[in-house]
Amino acid sequence: MPGGDSGVDVEQYDDVWVFVEQHDGEVAGVAWELLTKGRDLADQREEDLVALVMGEDLDETSIPEECIARGADRVLVADDPVFEPYRSDPYGEQFRYLVEERKPAIALIGGTHTGRDFAGRVAVPNHAGLTADCTELEMENGRYEMRRPAFGGDALATIICPDHRPQMSTVRPGVFPTAEPDDDREGEVIEVEVVVQEEGTMTEVLEREVGDVADITDAEVVVAGGIGVEGDFEPLWDLAEVLGGTVAGTRDAVEEGWIEPARQVGQTGKTVRPDLYIAAGISGAIQHLEGMDDSETVIAINTDPNAPIFDNADYGIVADLHEVIPELIAYFSEDRQ
Ligand code: FAD
Repeated sequence: MPGGDSGVDVEQYDDVWVFVEQHDGEVAGVAWELLTKGRDLADQREEDLVALVMGEDLDETSIPEECIARGADRVLVADDPVFEPYRSDPYGEQFRYLVEERKPAIALIGGTHTGRDFAGRVAVPNHAGLTADCTELEMENGRYEMRRPAFGGDALATIICPDHRPQMSTVRPGVFPTAEPDDDREGEVIEVEVVVQEEGTMTEVLEREVGDVADITDAEVVVAGGIGVEGDFEPLWDLAEVLGGTVAGTRDAVEEGWIEPARQVGQTGKTVRPDLYIAAGISGAIQHLEGMDDSETVIAINTDPNAPIFDNADYGIVADLHEVIPELIAYFSEDRQ
């Protein structure tokens, strides 16, 4: 039987699915990134790209149509109050059911809090192969390869899943670019049967407390600070403001309590790909570089001319950031018409 020893007939599975995460009608940016990547994979496999959206009153949003404009051939819509606000059990059970019923070959889920939370609830009962936190996805000679950092970021592991289906990946936000939507694309929107009910749901949301939800992954300019900042991030905020950007930091700066964990860049933080990344007082450890080395232009400011960050920078300033940053603020604040 095709599918090795697993007993799974892998030939029965086709199409690439993307989970389109939304909360109160607002789509997580990673979903559009995954539709772009999913379109590419589906084209190479000569299969369809299918978007799956769950929520309440989705027909009052333009999300299904936008999924088509962004590459989906079909959009599966599971619309019910049970899906708002997000809870892992209804999402996991509905997704599991649809996978069992429709048999996708590949399923891509954003590596957000939501995606990480429920992906296992789909993978385990379906005996699927799930690779978490992927940073690269490729088709190689007809085989789907998922890549993710391993051994503390020193290696990139390639993971394949030949005998089980679907081949599931959670993917870090920010690692894939987003293509422009094409409003002339055509596709099908399908209302699917909702198989979960409130009565059978074990969790109830009593209160929602929203912490720092800063999404540094969407910023075009990121001013990032490390240990060299020595605790005062205020000038970095000022520079970010005049450049129309946001502020981020290294893990060490986060651990010092100088900046919120949601703003950490790197292997255990977020991946950013801004037009401009200013690295101030950052040494350039491999785990940090992993989160920012796709930035368009990198400017590094460091007192140590041998700091590894300079090997990854387009422009290097060997100087004290406490002198350079005020000068940059003054320069960019000037009216230079
Ligand atoms: P340092 O390495 O201490 O560098 C500070 C730099 O500031 C130095 O180069 C110094 O020359 C310079 N400097 C000092 N004073 C000034 C000044 N006045 N002006 C200009 N420059 C100055 N790190 C991350 O960032 N993100 C991650 O996601 C992450 N994940 C990790 C996961 C694992 C499993 C492990 C083991 C580590 C991880 N790390 C991560 C930590 C990482 O290895 C480094 O320790 C960290 O990135 C270093 O932070 P830093 O550059 O702020 O500090």
